[in-house]
Amino acid sequence: MTAKRQTKAKQAKTVKGKVAKKAEVKSKKTKTKAPKKRFEVEFYRDWCKGCGICSAFCPEEVLAMNEKGEPEIAKPERCIGCAWCEIRCPDFAVRVEEKKEEEVGEA
Ligand code: SF4
Ligand code: SF4
Repeated sequence: MTAKRQTKAKQAKTVKGKVAKKAEVKSKKTKTKAPKKRFEVEFYRDWCKGCGICSAFCPEEVLAMNEKGEPEIAKPERCIGCAWCEIRCPDFAVRVEEKKEEEVGEA
């Protein structure tokens, strides 16, 4: 093989490699993401004294106080499951749980 042919063969190999790499990157980008986790917030109404701490600490404004002074779930789809409401409630009146797949499907 002449020197010129060797160079051309080398170039072809490099181009093939680049094309293969691009295709690999593209396939990685188009991979589907894991489904978003969903959470359920539950109040034990008998234990709640309506202090509003849970709604004040919720970073996603999921919780809000209603006109009766009780906490309610205003935007359930925004819950990220951080459990700040559960941790901060002085009366253990909030519980946060991840929804099971079949529950998410039903919602
Ligand atoms: S922090 Fe607890 S006691 Fe206070 S409003 Fe929320 S659930 Fe009720
Ligand atoms: S778990 Fe976090 S985001 Fe969800 S309601 Fe409680 S404080 Fe808000």
